[in-house]
Amino acid sequence: AETMLKVENLSISFRTDEGLITPVQGVGFEVQAGRTLGLVGESGSGKSVTTKALMKLLPGNAVIAPETSMHYTTKAGSEVRIDTLKPGSRAARQLRGGEIGMIFQEPMASFSPVYTIGNQMMEAIRLHKPVGRKEARAIAIEMLDRVGISHPAGRIDQYPHDLSGGMRQRAMIALALSAGPRLLIADEPTTALDVTIQAQVLELMRELQRDLGMGMIFITHDLGVIAQIADEIAVMYLGTIVERGPTREVIRDPKHPYTQGLLRAIPSLDHLQDRLTPVPGDTPSPTERPKGCPFHTRCAQALVGTCDRKTPDEVFPSRGHGVRCWLHDGNGRSVA
Ligand code: SF4
Ligand code: MG
Repeated sequence: AETMLKVENLSISFRTDEGLITPVQGVGFEVQAGRTLGLVGESGSGKSVTTKALMKLLPGNAVIAPETSMHYTTKAGSEVRIDTLKPGSRAARQLRGGEIGMIFQEPMASFSPVYTIGNQMMEAIRLHKPVGRKEARAIAIEMLDRVGISHPAGRIDQYPHDLSGGMRQRAMIALALSAGPRLLIADEPTTALDVTIQAQVLELMRELQRDLGMGMIFITHDLGVIAQIADEIAVMYLGTIVERGPTREVIRDPKHPYTQGLLRAIPSLDHLQDRLTPVPGDTPSPTERPKGCPFHTRCAQALVGTCDRKTPDEVFPSRGHGVRCWLHDGNGRSVA
């Protein structure tokens, strides 16, 4: 598959009154056309900050480290270095307008309160499809129907505040997909939905992904959702990716003690709707990131004198399956 996004060595710091904090450190991943990368981790792991950097939506006190590179290939086939783009620039706005779409937990971040749902969707549709208003309206009604909004022909002329929370969430997903993004970043978009609607929305997203060849980054703390939607998985802990690889392989044969803990927390993979419960112990804050392996304060397998002193590099137990843990040696073999 064609690589549309390649992120290497991404580090992000914030200047704060308490000094410099670094919520993302040395992160790398790729997204292929028509495929989904699942970013998993607890809150505070750096998932959302990572995607804000891709959208050029980091706050003013953020600093992207100079060794970072983020390469994106546009619909037209040209290369954009996202890391060096100016946040408020025309190029950054173009990227968010027609190339990279985002859906959030909070739908009002996407909608303008002063226009109807339909007008906002039709505008998004007509930006990338040469259709008249009537046809755009028909497409918008169909999209609303597909995300599970009943009586869409009536709903389309309502304002965002007229809809209930759950319905607004689904309308936001329809709005984001209306813009025909090449890369969609979805930040826990289905967390607030009930299980049936969630399954419908995930299925719709996959269908549209196949139709449009859209790449997707799906952020969640719910490993069950990841198993349903992601081709590749990247597990984040305290701002680094501790394990990544093909979803099926990582779930079948997790190498990192943190990933193993997350998977044990799911009673059975037959019950994919079960929420992930955190691994015992609290995640340290990014301001007091432990020395050595960031997970050593919670790891039952930690090697005293090694894990608390030295940071493990990424090794590859098998092709495309990477892990950062001292239990695996440079050839990817288990050493414990
Ligand atoms: Fe545990 Fe050590 Fe592996 Fe970190 S490097 S996950 S502390 S065994
Ligand atoms: Mg978040």
